Amino acid sequence: MVSASIIKQRESLPIFPYRQEIIEAIRQENLLVIIGETGSGKTTQIPQYILESFEDVKFIGVTQPRRIAAITVSTRVSEEHGSKLGEVVGYSIRFDDCTSSKTRLRYMTDGVLLREATLDPRLEQYNVIIVDEAHERTLETDVLFGLLKTTHILRPELKILVMSATLNVEKFSDFFNSCPIFVIPGRTYNVLINHHRDARIISLKSTFVMRAVETALYIHCQEQPGDILVFLTGQGEIEKACRDLLDQEANLNYRKDVKYADEVRGIVVYPIYATLETLEQKAVFEDPPRYTRKIIFATNIAQTSVTIPGIKYVVDSGFVKQKSYDPTTGMDALLVVPISQAAATQRAGRAGRTAPGKAYRLYSRESFEQMEKETIPEIQRSSLLGTVLSLKKMGIRDILNFEFIDPPDPLLVKNALKQLFLLEAIDDKGKLTRLGDEMSIFPLSPFLSRVLVASSKEFECSREILIIVAMLSVEEIFISPRSEEKQFEAGERRKEFYHPSGDHMTLLNIFEAYLDNGYSREWCKERYLNRRTLTMAKNIRDQLRELMLKHDLPIISCRIKNEDKINDNNRSRKRHRRNSHADTKYDTNKILEAFSTSYYINLAKRHSHRPLFYHYASARASDNEDIDANSSLLALHISSTSSLFPDNKIVRMEDLDWVMYHNVLYTNKALMKVISKVKIEWVEERLKLFEKLVSVNLDGDDDEKNEGQENENDDDDDDDKFKAVTNIKIE
Ligand code: ADP
Ligand code: MG
Repeated sequence: MVSASIIKQRESLPIFPYRQEIIEAIRQENLLVIIGETGSGKTTQIPQYILESFEDVKFIGVTQPRRIAAITVSTRVSEEHGSKLGEVVGYSIRFDDCTSSKTRLRYMTDGVLLREATLDPRLEQYNVIIVDEAHERTLETDVLFGLLKTTHILRPELKILVMSATLNVEKFSDFFNSCPIFVIPGRTYNVLINHHRDARIISLKSTFVMRAVETALYIHCQEQPGDILVFLTGQGEIEKACRDLLDQEANLNYRKDVKYADEVRGIVVYPIYATLETLEQKAVFEDPPRYTRKIIFATNIAQTSVTIPGIKYVVDSGFVKQKSYDPTTGMDALLVVPISQAAATQRAGRAGRTAPGKAYRLYSRESFEQMEKETIPEIQRSSLLGTVLSLKKMGIRDILNFEFIDPPDPLLVKNALKQLFLLEAIDDKGKLTRLGDEMSIFPLSPFLSRVLVASSKEFECSREILIIVAMLSVEEIFISPRSEEKQFEAGERRKEFYHPSGDHMTLLNIFEAYLDNGYSREWCKERYLNRRTLTMAKNIRDQLRELMLKHDLPIISCRIKNEDKINDNNRSRKRHRRNSHADTKYDTNKILEAFSTSYYINLAKRHSHRPLFYHYASARASDNEDIDANSSLLALHISSTSSLFPDNKIVRMEDLDWVMYHNVLYTNKALMKVISKVKIEWVEERLKLFEKLVSVNLDGDDDEKNEGQENENDDDDDDDKFKAVTNIKIE
């Protein structure tokens, strides 16, 4: 049974008066753009209106740019519908499918639909496709648009709806054959905007968390009742902000410090970021207890994807964590960057949903003026490796002329082609190779897919690589406790798993130990390991393993047999022994060499007498063995979460010469995450080819380098192979 309060809530949404008109528009049009303010009810209501009014609609797919949005929205909608999640209403995200044969409405990530379109361009099982949050312009959404245009030609009867929160939707309509636009009139209230006086604040990344906490506390002390939403950029700082605010609030003397103490006598604080736990707490969406103020620290997810009701005050840090193309390696990196003006306006708008509100910007008006007008679509700022591989797999040959709403820079497309050639996924004519075909079966980055295929066919260690790849696909394996004392203990416990070669093997050790101990909750807790994450990793491992078996990729272990047999027999007695898991022997070299088939471009050389490293490309560029630590070359540091972090003393720094890293986190330093010791011999050949093929293009911020010049450079080189590839025919 659906409760009366849910019915009332549904009927009170701004979209409700337009229900019939929307249904009519959908009945008439097969291509339609719908726009409406965030919170008006597009995502939760429109798919239900269709379910309720079109009997012949058997299956609706709704895309969301974020996994967590797909989950929370489907949870909410199944509740509104009065059924269990996974029955009529379900969701599908990568590695997690919560649907059944009963499902008629499926919320899914744009990535999942993109993969389905790869396999079936007609999207036969759907009667309606809704591309939601189109304004977010994720890479996947943009590619989907291009594909859906073809689907529309193949299946004109398929209903395709594009839903967006912001104006500027003419672009979507123009793209889809000038289709009609349905505008849901907004109900928004005035938002008073306060800018920070200090013009420099936007450049002070290190202090914005502190400012955000101070500002939230200020609002709590000085302003009328009403909930506060604070925009920060990531999990770490959000958790810190929650702790700091609670600590400071504990010191308040309500009678003295809080102006409206008669009405607000306490706070409840919630974090919201991309990992699940937080939004599963329904309380985030509910009214706080009487006389308390709800304060939420959130990432960009609360900007348009997930609407929190009752927000009266917004605090905007002015930053967002965003995927950006790293021209040194050709891979994507997550960077904290200033938001756009459009995003700032959206954020402020969150305060005026139900009554007039206030927005506190932690940056000056001048800084606002200097921001980009609109956020640059992801497709124009990310590595296109995965996209190009999927398109190749679909048989789309002419990628440079694929119909994009905003085409990516042709140089980025060419670089992706070159990198795919280096990974041996395409040949020198730009055709998908057998390896490329095998790589495209995995819902992973081409780099990880390449490693998986190599581990099975070349290096005979696919059992172990499957585990490490799964562990690399999850976040937050370690729990970081609050108190310093416990943090120390957690660090000590972690040492049990450290492997002298570094983090890849350490991840393997953790997973194996988790299995050996029967997935025990207690065991995880004692070691400060996140059991939920490990369960997820196991689930991903199992799914990837299925895919390998299905495609005849053998699963082979490189565990060294007969080793420590006696110990094995005595295992039960030796449980308490330290380092017990690190003693299991594998052919570590095979494993790391398999990784180096992709990650050779993430190679770094140690500074001769400091614990810092230089990326291979810059180390070569300097032509100088003893690089000056103060030089402008990109210095890479070992993250303190790595087993090879100098303080851990797992290896002597002198014994580290070359390391391979999985990714880099840019904070005030560039931190290598997940690193292992490698031998340069493994990668020398690849690096040579890489240098010839890619380095020319990869310093892409050089404006003068246009395509013509680049070809000229290429022609100067006598290496035939090199020529062949830069001239890859993009048929
Ligand atoms: P839009 O897509 O137009 O931004 P939504 O359909 O996402 O709007 O949200 C409509 C309303 O439903 C909002 O007021 C929001 O607060 C509410 N809502 C959305 N998800 C939940 C949830 N999980 N629990 C409670 N309310 C929710
Ligand atoms: Mg929405």
